Amino acid sequence: MVIADVAGREPRCRGPRQETLLRMLENTLTHAERPDDLIVYAGLAKAARDHAALKVLTEALSTLEEHETLVVQSGKPIGVFPTGPRAPLVVMANSNLVGRWATSEHFYELERRGLIAWGGYTAGDWQYIGSQGIVQGTYQTLTAVADAHFDGDLAGRLVVTAGLGGMGGAQPLATVMAGGVALCVEVDADRIRRRIDSGYLERGTESIDEAIVWANDAVASRTAASIGLLGNAADVLPALRERGVVPDVVTDQTAAHDLMYGYVPSGMTPGEAAALRDSDPDELTRRARASIAAHVECMLAWQDAGSVAFEYGNNLRAQAAENGVDAFRIPIFIEKYIRPLFCRGIGPFRWVASSGEQADIDVIDDLVVREFPNNPLVQRWIPTARKYVRQAGLPSRISWLAHGERTRLALLVNEAVRSGELRGPVAFTRDHLDAGGVSQPLRETENMPDGSDAVSDWPLLNALLNAGSGADLVAIHAGGGGYAGYMQSAGITLVADGTSAADERIAAALTADTGIGIMRYADAGYDTAADAVRASGLRWFG
Ligand code: NAD
Repeated sequence: MVIADVAGREPRCRGPRQETLLRMLENTLTHAERPDDLIVYAGLAKAARDHAALKVLTEALSTLEEHETLVVQSGKPIGVFPTGPRAPLVVMANSNLVGRWATSEHFYELERRGLIAWGGYTAGDWQYIGSQGIVQGTYQTLTAVADAHFDGDLAGRLVVTAGLGGMGGAQPLATVMAGGVALCVEVDADRIRRRIDSGYLERGTESIDEAIVWANDAVASRTAASIGLLGNAADVLPALRERGVVPDVVTDQTAAHDLMYGYVPSGMTPGEAAALRDSDPDELTRRARASIAAHVECMLAWQDAGSVAFEYGNNLRAQAAENGVDAFRIPIFIEKYIRPLFCRGIGPFRWVASSGEQADIDVIDDLVVREFPNNPLVQRWIPTARKYVRQAGLPSRISWLAHGERTRLALLVNEAVRSGELRGPVAFTRDHLDAGGVSQPLRETENMPDGSDAVSDWPLLNALLNAGSGADLVAIHAGGGGYAGYMQSAGITLVADGTSAADERIAAALTADTGIGIMRYADAGYDTAADAVRASGLRWFG
């Protein structure tokens, strides 16, 4: 099969699966927040260890045969093994450290010596699709918040948050999609500009008072709107509070998990923080933590005044708690709003058109709407995404689909590749933030009913099973930087290249991927998950 050119490119690999994975790597880098450093998002999450490793990875994928497996360790290619036609083309382990050594200090030491790299969830395993990847998760969370607290409607509601980076940049658009008013504090003027340029943010200001006037107008007229406010969250949130603002919803997506690279301390510019990192890193982390403490104190005061507050998974509470703040009074977003979906195997499934043709995504959008008429999430999401999400890099779509639905869709897409309705292979993948993909006791697995929050067997089993089922790429990730010691996760990519071998791989691996997810939640004691397992027909010993 000939793969259609991507931006005028001829295929360079020995098969469409390898070519698609290479395009996924390149695509991940086209979305990088700091491309020169190969840093894709979340302060430090990289797609490859360094430029030398990237060059070898590209060469290795170009020469990889169908029956071989490329082994990648923390973004560095190690070797190629003859493994057979049903084996993954690529296996990875990114930033895993033995338990006692899994600290941010040890991680940074290894990173300095070029021995490790953090992959985030979707950077190191080449699955990142830009801010769209998190738009639906954020939209999903906000609509769940609206259902739980505001009679299902975010219109006329003010959402105050901070951080407009790779992931956080989805917040203003997701809020607008859900009908609310987003006031997003961001310390870096370039990030505000970037989000406006990409259509994720409507307008920005440096003036707190102007931002309040804009927000009040939008709230009063119940008009969906997004406002970027230049400033430091640790300073601006208390300033908003002093002026009498009480948001309906407050959360945060600064990269607070990383005190060295992710959170700019109060009173400093990003440039000044970078200079202090070089001259006195201990002082930088001390100041960053103190600033986060003030930031969280403000969120707690708002929560006490009636705001719906939640942490959006950036370890903000843990950082503040280190400074004695009673931060865990703020709940995590997953337990209340997202876990009920995980129990049914519903999570952030996504697909990427390796052809580079938007028409391929349009065909699949139509297919999804047609195939799942009784799925309200899909019926609401796909038209909304078509209206609001601007494509960047390879055309892609994310849509939260359930166990069984994912397999069904991917098989239909594989058929459409085979028939020529689609112009090229399609890569299917998901966020690690998914039913089967992750253990993170302060986020996805916080407050599990059986207390199994920190058991990381589950994502490891997920990866083993996915590799055994013939997924094209399987990755095991652990936390790096400020997340060191906090998480274990697994990623999967499957390529629908129109072959019958792809049918087999898709059927086995996508069933396994969410199957082990619903079993994990059923095992923890969730009845809805047990019902989903029973309905799946999988053999289960629960
Ligand atoms: P990023 O590094 O790309 O962006 C962080 C942004 O925060 C930057 O624009 C930075 O300038 C800004 N910032 C830093 N300190 C600030 C301060 N004091 N005041 C205002 N702005 C400040 O990171 P990202 O990819 O956007 O991710 C953000 C965080 O969200 C990370 O901790 C990431 O791990 C987390 N995250 C959570 C989930 C989830 O579970 N839902 C998903 C994705 C990301």
